[in-house]
Amino acid sequence: MPVACYSACLFFAQALAKVVADYGIKTNFNCNLVAVDGPAKTATFEVTDAAGAKQQITKEFAMLHVTPPQSAPDFIKQSPLANAGGWIDVNEKTLQHNRYPNIFGLGDAAATSNAKTAAAVRKQVPVVVDNILALMKSAAVQEGYDGYGSCPLTTSLNTVMLAEFSYGGKVTPSFPLLDPRSNRGIWWWGKTTGFPWLYWHIMLKGYRIDIPHREAYAKKFLSE
Ligand SMILES: Cc1cc2nc3c(=O)[nH]c(=O)nc-3n(C[C@H](O)[C@H](O)[C@H](O)COP(=O)(O)OP(=O)(O)OC[C@H]3O[C@@H](n4cnc5c(N)ncnc54)[C@H](O)[C@@H]3O)c2cc1C
Repeated sequence: MPVACYSACLFFAQALAKVVADYGIKTNFNCNLVAVDGPAKTATFEVTDAAGAKQQITKEFAMLHVTPPQSAPDFIKQSPLANAGGWIDVNEKTLQHNRYPNIFGLGDAAATSNAKTAAAVRKQVPVVVDNILALMKSAAVQEGYDGYGSCPLTTSLNTVMLAEFSYGGKVTPSFPLLDPRSNRGIWWWGKTTGFPWLYWHIMLKGYRIDIPHREAYAKKFLSE
């Protein structure tokens, strides 16, 4: 793991490990789902051990919840806009295309290394708008996007942990007094009510309300 990523990954992973332990959940890392037999209710995993050796194991399941690997849509992957990995080939900070300066990309399909979230899109949109306007005036585009993303992690039927971070594994909360590792009812309200309202009535209508996120807000919690 790169050192830069270490702080945010460890910071939230340790807190989530406690949630997992409290529920008595057994985790199985390094298991890649490679086949499912629906009628037989079995799933086959390729398991990689600590030495890198791989073997396949098949397990029975009562219910299987699968998330596919993240990917851009095929029409992006197959277009000249894509990089080798299939994502829209943009500069991580300006969101301007690396080969076509009059094209910008943002959101899940963009080749930015932030967490793919609507919270990231919320911070990317103003950067793209400002940079298109700058380009139209022949002014320099700005490196305005810092990789902010946010994952409201549901930890119970009425609590959420609000993980916010930026490029380089920086923990960048928006609320200075609240430990972001705490499971809170207020974040549950945010996820179910507050954030959707923000997205539908502010963001999609083109209004700008910036809630600043700061690495400095996390300093006190990072040392604990
Ligand atoms: C289960 C789940 C929970 C999530 N929870 C959160 C959360 O709590 N907070 C958060 O911030 N983010 C969350 N996200 C992530 C968030 O939904 C995405 O990051 C966000 O929607 C990305 O926006 P986008 O516009 O880039 O892509 P999308 O929202 O995927 O929009 C892409 C659009 O392009 C359309 N499209 C695809 N192919 C074509 C084509 N060939 N022609 C025309 N149109 C096409 C699609 O139909 C879609 O409407 C969640 C995602 C999932 C799946």
